[in-house]
Amino acid sequence: MRAIDSDHAASAKGKRLLGCLLAVALLLTAGWFLVFRVNRFRLEISLEGTDPVMVEYGSSYREPEWKVTLRGSLLWKDGIDVSDADITVDGTVRDDVLGKYRLTYTARYFGLQASAERTVWVVDTQCPQIELEELPEKDDLTLEDYRNAGFAAWDNYDGDVTSRVKRLESVGKIEYAVIDSSGNPGYAQRLVPDLDPVPPQLTLTGGSAYELPVGSPYIEPGYSAWDDPCGDLTPQVAVEGAVDWLTPGVYPVTYTVADTAGNTATATREVQVYAKPRPQIQWPEEKTVYLTFDDGPGPDTPRLLDLLDRYGVKATFFVTDSGYDDVMKQIVERGHSIGIHTVTHDYRAIYASPEAYFADLLEMQQIIYRNTGVLTNLMRFPGGSSNTVSRASCQGIMGALTKMVQDAGFCYFDWNVDSDDAGHAKTTKTVVRNVIDGIRENPVAAVLQHDIHGFSVEAVEQIIQWGLENGYTFQALTETSPGFHHDIQN
Ligand code: ZN
Repeated sequence: MRAIDSDHAASAKGKRLLGCLLAVALLLTAGWFLVFRVNRFRLEISLEGTDPVMVEYGSSYREPEWKVTLRGSLLWKDGIDVSDADITVDGTVRDDVLGKYRLTYTARYFGLQASAERTVWVVDTQCPQIELEELPEKDDLTLEDYRNAGFAAWDNYDGDVTSRVKRLESVGKIEYAVIDSSGNPGYAQRLVPDLDPVPPQLTLTGGSAYELPVGSPYIEPGYSAWDDPCGDLTPQVAVEGAVDWLTPGVYPVTYTVADTAGNTATATREVQVYAKPRPQIQWPEEKTVYLTFDDGPGPDTPRLLDLLDRYGVKATFFVTDSGYDDVMKQIVERGHSIGIHTVTHDYRAIYASPEAYFADLLEMQQIIYRNTGVLTNLMRFPGGSSNTVSRASCQGIMGALTKMVQDAGFCYFDWNVDSDDAGHAKTTKTVVRNVIDGIRENPVAAVLQHDIHGFSVEAVEQIIQWGLENGYTFQALTETSPGFHHDIQN
């Protein structure tokens, strides 16, 4: 029984031991579970210093250190420093070679592991230095002394960079500049009194290409010249080249200016003088009379205008600066054509040169414009294009002028029926006969009369009546009317 009891006791003891062992195992498991699963230990490595770390070429790389921390969710929540962790660093920094380096840090501690990376740049940010040779202090230093003065340039990485130095002369100084292989600039300057290598700046108002039609007088569009240090040199600009504004062509005008150091600037303006296109002439299909009156207006002109109104006839007046400004206005207001004749009617003066002729022509155009508001391009040469009176003033001028005025956009008119009221016809009767005889021979007639002669004005009514009875229409000249051009005699 004892044996049985003792067996029994042994069995109970074993069970208790087993129970204890199970309890311990359970506790350990729970402890492990709490500490390692719920608490979740982990290792952290934090790098000190900037990211990336910049290391200037020539200085040595010093590791900015690191820190290893153990953290858990429950225990050491705020972390505890682990100074005895096992650290390995992969990678090296060569501080004598420019470039980018990567360092990998690995920390191990009781089976836990953490890693971090650091970037290190070895850079060259130092500018090269330029040393200028000192010149002796004396008053008679020449520009060449300054130009030949020595210099040297040194860079912490590239070494001697003297050969790479660029020299630039500007007003009052010589500048020296160099850039090292990392792009760092070096600069120095030597002040040089009186150095002025820069020419003046010439500016042409309106640009270097300029166009104008024949007959528009060329007026210099303007220019300016500026220099450092001389300032405004505009008054010193020399202008060369003539523009023949009466003949189509391209005329170069050259501008030159120099500063006190002798630097010269030039510019050229190409002036193109072009001919205006000529209008397409339309020859009338029906029998037509163009009544034209020169040299007025005069005291008889208002009477003539009333007569023309009565017959509903339009005529053309080639006017002078006769002082009848209001009558000139009436001509336009009553629907007649107005054309330029001349300001002075002084053959000797106006036919002295093409320029003199155009001065008179353009002035009369402006007088008409002021009085009537019409800028007319219709015109008649004093004496007609076939005049020989101009020969005394200028040989061959009519041949030149007839081309020039048309290139300038004017339409000149001669006549094919002359009343001769400025010549031998001294009576109304003769004028009527001359004109009607002339019209008979010309189904399209341009009649020349002068409204400064009362006897000629007196003839107009009979001329109109005859014309209307014989199937003519009376028209005013326009720029598409025939010109009735004479053969040139001079
Ligand atoms: Zn005349």
